[in-house]
Amino acid sequence: MDTEKLYYQDPYIQSFSAEILQSKKDDKGRFYAVLNKTAFYPAGGGQPHDTGTINDVHVYDVKEEKGEIRHYTETPVQERKVNGVINWVRRFGHMQQHAGQHLLSAAFEDMYGYRTTSFHLGSETCTIDLDTPELSEKEANQVEENVNSVILNNLPIQTRWVKANELSHFPLRKAVSKENNIRLVIIPDIDYNGCGGTHPHQTGEVGSVKILHWEKQKKQIRVHFVCGNRVLKQLETKHRVIRHLTSMLSAPQEDLENALARMLNQQRSLEKSNGTLKLELLSHETDKLIQQAKQKDDYKLVSKIYVNRPVKLLQQMAKNITQTSGNMLVLFVNETDAKLQIVGARSKDMDMRMKEFLSRILPGINGKGGGSETMVQGAGDRTISSDKLMEKMTSIIEEIK
Ligand SMILES: [Zn+2]
Repeated sequence: MDTEKLYYQDPYIQSFSAEILQSKKDDKGRFYAVLNKTAFYPAGGGQPHDTGTINDVHVYDVKEEKGEIRHYTETPVQERKVNGVINWVRRFGHMQQHAGQHLLSAAFEDMYGYRTTSFHLGSETCTIDLDTPELSEKEANQVEENVNSVILNNLPIQTRWVKANELSHFPLRKAVSKENNIRLVIIPDIDYNGCGGTHPHQTGEVGSVKILHWEKQKKQIRVHFVCGNRVLKQLETKHRVIRHLTSMLSAPQEDLENALARMLNQQRSLEKSNGTLKLELLSHETDKLIQQAKQKDDYKLVSKIYVNRPVKLLQQMAKNITQTSGNMLVLFVNETDAKLQIVGARSKDMDMRMKEFLSRILPGINGKGGGSETMVQGAGDRTISSDKLMEKMTSIIEEIK
């Protein structure tokens, strides 16, 4: 069922009249219509499909499948005679990106020998993959400058249908594998390419090309770029961010980097002094705990219950206490929203078996933990109160000492 491809006769057709040849459902239950002619471009050759309406019903996808161009619509189109309208902003955007891609690929290859191995026209930005492991800032800048001057020169972009035996007359960038219906997109002296996409008639319509950034992709370089109206859109978005930053940092655009660097430096030095102050505070706190230690028969006990304290901090405190004073046993309980955590530590000059202590206390709270003979930690469920847990801990110590 052959559909006349209006988008090849004139890529600027935005609306058209046609007749429905078939109105069906595919095997996924999606409605589609096949027309006798269409200006809807089906996804192919790296260019995304058009969207629009057929008799005011939204066309959300267009695909060429089994030799027919299927227009997928949200509801079935019943009428035989239809009027199709293309979402022109989307389509013209694709034409700008696609032609810009041809120009970029041509410039990378002609100026530096970097061949394009694949490309992608995305909904926001586009990419080409270059067959090179490196790309310098200078190379990218020069390619961009070159392409923008080709755009400004407003050269013609032509399309030609040729036979396989005519291909040798053209300096093609890449061998064409098709035998029939070969379509060439030609920008004289710049680019000769087998391509089925829609392109504007002049390079000037691309507007401009902006390379955004690039990254390593396997052993190649992936270049992200935008063309035409998307350049303005990018400028708008980035400018909005910069405007906010200038007001947040109270610095003009050209001083933003310095202002941010100053702020980060300041933050680093604040973090450093904050760390020092925390340590001092911790040592005051541990000194106080040591002074308040309870004298037992043959050791001194520091025991305390905390709420939502980082266990790392409690371990550090227990270490400080047991390393600075002898004959000292530390028992901490920490209560969080979901768990009970414990820390137990003793001075080196004692011989209390802390691992045994841990193995006896943990089952009562379905806990898990570990440590050494001088310091242990664990955590379990809140099956009992922290006071009760501390009571149990002290009585186990009495039993095992
Ligand atoms: Zn193409």
